[in-house]
Amino acid sequence: MSVFFQKVVWITGASSGIGEAIAQTLAKEKVKLVLSARRADELQRVAAQTGLPSSDILVLPMDMTDIDSFPDHVETVLQHFSRIDYVFQNAGITQRSTVADSELSVYKQLMDVNFFGVVALTKAVLPTMLSQKSGSFVVTSSVAGKLGTKQRSGYCASKHALHGFFDALRAETYNDGLRVTLVCPGYIKTPLSFHALSAGGQVHGKMDTNQAQGMSAEAFAKRLVKAVSKEKEEVYIGGAEIYGIYL
Ligand code: NDP
Repeated sequence: MSVFFQKVVWITGASSGIGEAIAQTLAKEKVKLVLSARRADELQRVAAQTGLPSSDILVLPMDMTDIDSFPDHVETVLQHFSRIDYVFQNAGITQRSTVADSELSVYKQLMDVNFFGVVALTKAVLPTMLSQKSGSFVVTSSVAGKLGTKQRSGYCASKHALHGFFDALRAETYNDGLRVTLVCPGYIKTPLSFHALSAGGQVHGKMDTNQAQGMSAEAFAKRLVKAVSKEKEEVYIGGAEIYGIYL
């Protein structure tokens, strides 16, 4: 039987791209799903496409920057499903602007969504996992969480920060039964770069060619789910070899 069978899995950034593909992949393993992102209509669409019974799926719209609401969201999940087994910390935004051009507010926006929101959600869920003596955080970092690349200084910084935070959390909680998987995708075909922040914080509005030609989110999700089932601590998936062009 799959390690995910009947497990409660909370996915952020589930309205699109990688998060949506993880939801569809795990739905086949008969999990209980909690789907989060800002766009409730897109979450409802993803939920309907999973084919799971409505009792096994909770659509929970949330903004990663609204950290004061997180304890209430955790309570809502516990009222529905009584426990939380996996949190896929996947919501994220990126950037296309140089250090010279970027306003400081761009760095703040990137850190608020990609780092502080993730930290706050982790802290909100942690007491539940510690009392269960089990639970896993699966964190979508990036190859940019390991390298510095042009026009992504704030994005790289936010993803690097996730590695420091979650490596420390793993060390603190491993003996309490908790697990952490950090995943570093290369180029995955999603709308991520279209929504990238430009120098003044406005939406970039163009797809990167490399991303448009990247691995499908569905293929990525299958490999990620397999890696998580084996409790891998860090995993690289999807076209890391072509990443060199941006260095
Ligand atoms: P998408 O743009 O398709 O997905 C991003 C998701 O994050 C959406 O569901 C979006 O939902 C959600 N999101 C964005 N801002 C917020 C916010 N403030 N509050 C709540 N949710 C938010 O891109 P991907 O699927 O590619 O991105 C998923 C993760 O993968 C990101 O962390 C990204 O950094 C990472 N990644 C992606 C790579 C790629 O090549 N695609 C490569 C490396 C890493 P909504 O707008 O509804 O809120």
